[in-house]
Amino acid sequence: MRKFEKDSSVFRLLSDAISEGIIVVNREHEIVSINGRALKFFGYTREELIGQSLNILIPNRFKKVHKEHTTKYFKSSKTGEMVEDRCLFGQRKSGEEFPLKVDLHPFELYERNYVLALVRDISQEVEFQQSFNLQTEAIDSAHNGIVITDALLPDNPIIYANRAFEKITGYSRSEILNRNCRFLQNQDRNQEGVQVMRNAIKKGESCQVEVRNYRKDGTLFWNEVSINPIKNEDGIITHFIGIQNDITLRVNIEQEVNYLVRIFNESLNEIYVLEADNLKISHANFGACINSGYTLEELRGKSLLALLPQYNKAKFHKALEPIFRRSREKIILETLLKRKDGSEYPVEVHLQSSKKGDNRVIICIILDITEKRNYMDRLEATVEERTRQLQEALSREIELNELKTKFLSMVSHEFKTPLSAILTSATLVGKYQETESQEKRNRHLKTIKREVKHLNNILNDFLSIERFEKGKELYNLTKFSLSKVINEVVYNANMMLKSGQRINYPKDVDDLTVCQDEKIVSLALTNLLYNSIKYSPEDTLIDIQVTAGDDMLVIKVIDEGIGIPEKDQRFIFERYFRAENVLLTQGTGIGLNIVKSHVDNLGGSISFSSRENEGTTFTLVFPIDDKACA
Ligand code: ADP
Repeated sequence: MRKFEKDSSVFRLLSDAISEGIIVVNREHEIVSINGRALKFFGYTREELIGQSLNILIPNRFKKVHKEHTTKYFKSSKTGEMVEDRCLFGQRKSGEEFPLKVDLHPFELYERNYVLALVRDISQEVEFQQSFNLQTEAIDSAHNGIVITDALLPDNPIIYANRAFEKITGYSRSEILNRNCRFLQNQDRNQEGVQVMRNAIKKGESCQVEVRNYRKDGTLFWNEVSINPIKNEDGIITHFIGIQNDITLRVNIEQEVNYLVRIFNESLNEIYVLEADNLKISHANFGACINSGYTLEELRGKSLLALLPQYNKAKFHKALEPIFRRSREKIILETLLKRKDGSEYPVEVHLQSSKKGDNRVIICIILDITEKRNYMDRLEATVEERTRQLQEALSREIELNELKTKFLSMVSHEFKTPLSAILTSATLVGKYQETESQEKRNRHLKTIKREVKHLNNILNDFLSIERFEKGKELYNLTKFSLSKVINEVVYNANMMLKSGQRINYPKDVDDLTVCQDEKIVSLALTNLLYNSIKYSPEDTLIDIQVTAGDDMLVIKVIDEGIGIPEKDQRFIFERYFRAENVLLTQGTGIGLNIVKSHVDNLGGSISFSSRENEGTTFTLVFPIDDKACA
């Protein structure tokens, strides 16, 4: 061994200068020479190793195998034959194992066999390889799609795609490699995000965008892409790394949420979100702002109670109790809402409990029920009006029936006197047979005529009642000559005149045509004129005065009769009422009542002034608007 050392001092000198470790062992596996580099790998001094068995450098677990291996090697190998033995493990003095690469060179010196082992510490390489493998595996098993493109090749083709990219896109690696990434866009090229990517790649910058991409089966997915350029030492971009993230679910949720938020915000119903413990408004929608007149900023932080004038804190909490106790999901209150300008409107407040994160909130939806209220009010008013009309119709019906019954009994009484007068006069007329008795006959005939007229008037009044009971549509407005009507009424009334009574015909009516219901004007005038005749003594004057304006006709009937006692005057238009000073005179008490009803229906009026034993003036006013007859 010393011989080898001695003879090979030149070798040692040389071997210390090279970067590999050199160990020379003899057939007995003893280390006969070792260079500085190898000593450094194993952490020993030369003295500690020379003459030692090679085993000292072999980890225990490999010692046995190694010995067999080396023995076999000495036997079989020939001088000069080089054997590369890969990836063995050495053991440092500290006991630490490390990977090493060994090339074995057998040689012969002074007829002895040796083996020269060239040793390389590859722990750093192995470490690097392991870490590289780890990284590759990590990239390949990442959830994000990863592609690497070669920026130096034409059209920047993909040279690497990980498994997630295959999974997201549905394409296999062979379909992906050597293509530009744009195939993911299909025909959907006109996207803002795509434009951003193009610009970034052109300028060699990083970017992050959200784009619509399409899987192999044509389905759309939202891709969050971030692109980063990789530069070499010279600053030239050699690659781009693209990281893809399928955010379809997030985008869909976002779209859904945005849609719901839009509905919330744009709803015209007022929606408020309240903090449950203090009832402060944390959010309000557009409808709430519009209807209340407050801005969102003004509403935020304000207590809802500021908008509900009919509630204080205690009352509102009491109302909310069922939803706090969870005995009810929702409660509805009808109340008033006070706008910013102080005006109030009726609302329905729907309240329900909800959660925002961990906090309890109250969702409050307010409906403006002004329309509903108005509708209900209108409905109630209509029902009330209809009920009133029905009651009126019913009482009119009852009244009419009573009237008819009363009238029949009254008429049967009222008819008796005129009929017996007619009978008497007719009997007497038959008895006056001589020519000279003509004057007497005439007197009786006049009585007969007057009584028939009287009966006729009663019947007319009766028939007229039915007419106004049935309503306005039975009136017939026409243009007629007033003088013609007055002439007929006066002509008929003349027959009723008592001795010395005179009717003063009105002036300036000859050319007067008026637009009214002719029959009612005639009926009213007849009634007033007959009453004046009936309730005035002989030798008195009855004056008829007419004034006609553009739209009013005024007819006055003035008599010098018994008048109406003051205490009876307020009842004079009531049906069947008769003043106490006429009870011995024939009459029914319905004439004035009928006249008033008709005149009122036609938009006119009837009034009177009277003094007992001096006379009475009745005034009729009719509207005579020509347009009503057009
Ligand atoms: P009647 O058939 O009793 O005349 P009316 O309805 O025509 O019924 O009149 C009602 C009452 O008004 C009469 O009973 C009478 O008391 C009073 N009256 C009406 N016109 C006159 C008049 N010109 N002078 C005095 N009293 C009158």
